[in-house]
Formats: sequence, structure tokens, C-alpha cells
Amino acid sequence: MADIVKGNEIALGMKTAVREKILRVRPGSEMPPKLVSVSVGRSGDAEIYVNMQRKAADFTGIEFSTLELEPSISQRELAGQIEKLNADRTVSAIIVQKPLPGGIDHSAVAASIAPDKDAEGIHPLNLGRIFRRQADIVPCTPGAVMKILSERGVDLYGREVVIIGHSAIVGKPLSMMMLNEMATTTVCHIGTHEKGDLISHIGKADVLVVAVGKAEMVKGAWIKPGAVVVDVGINKVAGGVVGDVEFDEAAEKASLITPVPGGVGPVTVSVLMRNVLRAYLKNVARK
Ligand code: NAD
Repeated sequence: MADIVKGNEIALGMKTAVREKILRVRPGSEMPPKLVSVSVGRSGDAEIYVNMQRKAADFTGIEFSTLELEPSISQRELAGQIEKLNADRTVSAIIVQKPLPGGIDHSAVAASIAPDKDAEGIHPLNLGRIFRRQADIVPCTPGAVMKILSERGVDLYGREVVIIGHSAIVGKPLSMMMLNEMATTTVCHIGTHEKGDLISHIGKADVLVVAVGKAEMVKGAWIKPGAVVVDVGINKVAGGVVGDVEFDEAAEKASLITPVPGGVGPVTVSVLMRNVLRAYLKNVARK
């Protein structure tokens, strides 16, 4: 039976470290760290995430403010709003909440945030820095996966890591972070599934990370005995939320597994807070 990762404990440790650092740095600076959350239109799911971020910010000593914009806003107007926040020296970091209305290009929005205020680590410059192993502001979910693995002492050197999902915010940056740790890294996606090769890749994984968004699509029987399984998926089903991995059956085979909820999710929010701290320190250093 696998050891079950307690994401909330790891998250608390990270938030406590952020809070302590802020307490040490704050007296020398006239301004507190401040995260601005930008929402375009309303979405129930986004509001849940905003509340989680606000709670984590309160805990760590980061000021949290929200900017709510009309769903009819144009790409250009949104860029103008972000430009104002970029120029505002009281703002340490910016997060633009998803989902965005259909007409808004998310990657253009990510590119419009100043790289040193990029709370989610999704600006092309911050993503590119991962290639050079120079990233300090990192994409939150891949950062959370790496934090969980390092906290639990999972050695990645030369191990077979299989990531399922190749999105720009999870699978792709995570694959580069895994390569930086010298893992033998395979990225699978819908094409792998359609060619019928997914199960054979999963069966080889010493470390399996699943970020697809399909409830319990990875079956316990496919998992290599003793593997580490990190489930990034969040899927609403009748009766609650489940991950992308069939948890009970996978826990029988794995040596370590993250649950959903209570695994990657809370750690992701803590990486966001760590990014805000890092952005704040960069901005303080420039003044
Ligand atoms: P996405 O929709 O952008 O990408 C999905 C990926 O899964 C793509 O690479 C696609 O090719 C692949 N895919 C789809 N069907 C597949 C199949 N049958 N077999 C193999 N691959 C398949 O998703 P995303 O934004 O990366 O999010 C993935 C999941 O992770 C979602 O459930 C999302 O809610 C969750 N998520 C969780 C966190 C967190 O902090 N825990 C953060 C971000 C996303």
C-alpha cells in the first residue's frame, strides 16, 4: 500500500517559510508584498481559487487585492489594465484568473505581464529560463510537483519519468524541470492515446505524473509496482472531486501517491505565494 502524500502539510511548510521571510524583509522596505488578482467576468470555479489564494496570502502576510473586469473587455483594454499594474510600484505580482472569455488569448495575456511580476511563472521569459535552469519564478503546478518529489526524497536522476499531458502550464514546463534533474523524461498526450501506446508508457514509469483532466482515466492495473504517482487532475463528479488516477487501485501498486483533493492542489497555491515573495524581492531590490 502506497504512502499517501499530505499536500496540506507540505503547503503549510512552504507558506510558513514565505511568512517568515516576509517578516524578516518587511521592516527594511516601506511597502508590503502585494498580489493583484485580475478576473474577467465571473466563474464559480475561479471564485473558489481566488478565495484559496486570498487565504494563503493572508496567512503569509501578502496583501491581496482584486480587479474585476467586464467579460466584454477587449484584448487591448485588458492589456492596458495589466500595463497599469506593471507600472504601479505598490504591486509586486499579478495573476490573471482563468477561465478567460472566449475572445481573449491567454498566451498574449501571459506575455503582457511584466516578467518580474508574473505570479504564475507563465511569461515566455520565465518559461524560457527553465531551459537554462535559471528560473526562480516558476509555473505553479509544475513547481508543486517538483516540490512534492523533493520533499519526499524521490531521486529523479536517470529514472523513467512519464508525464501524461503536454499543456503549456503543466506538462511542457514540468518535462523541462524533470530533464534539469536528469530524469529520463517521456511526455504522453492525446496522440499517444490515439496510437494505443499510452498504457505501455505508463507501465515503464518509475515516476508517473498525470495532468489530463479526465476522471480516473489511469487505471491502477497499468501502474508499475513501486512507482511514484502524482495526480494533477481535478475533476468534478457526483459526490465530489477526483483526480485523473483511479486512486484506491493505484495506491495498491504505487510506493507513493498524491490524493485528490489534498495533494498537488494546496502545494500549487503555496508555490504561487513563493513566486509573489520572489517577485517582491526583485522589485524591492530595484528600488
Ligand atoms: P489541458 O486540457 O490543457 O491539457 C490536457 C492534456 O491531456 C493535453 O496534453 C492532452 O493531449 C492530454 N490528453 C487528453 N486526453 C488524453 C488521453 N485520453 N490520454 C492521454 N492524454 C490525453 O489541461 P491542463 O490545463 O494541463 O490540466 C490538466 C488537469 O490538471 C485538469 O484536470 C486541471 O483541472 C488540472 N490542473 C490542476 C492544477 C492543480 O494545481 N492541481 C493546476 C492546473 C491544472
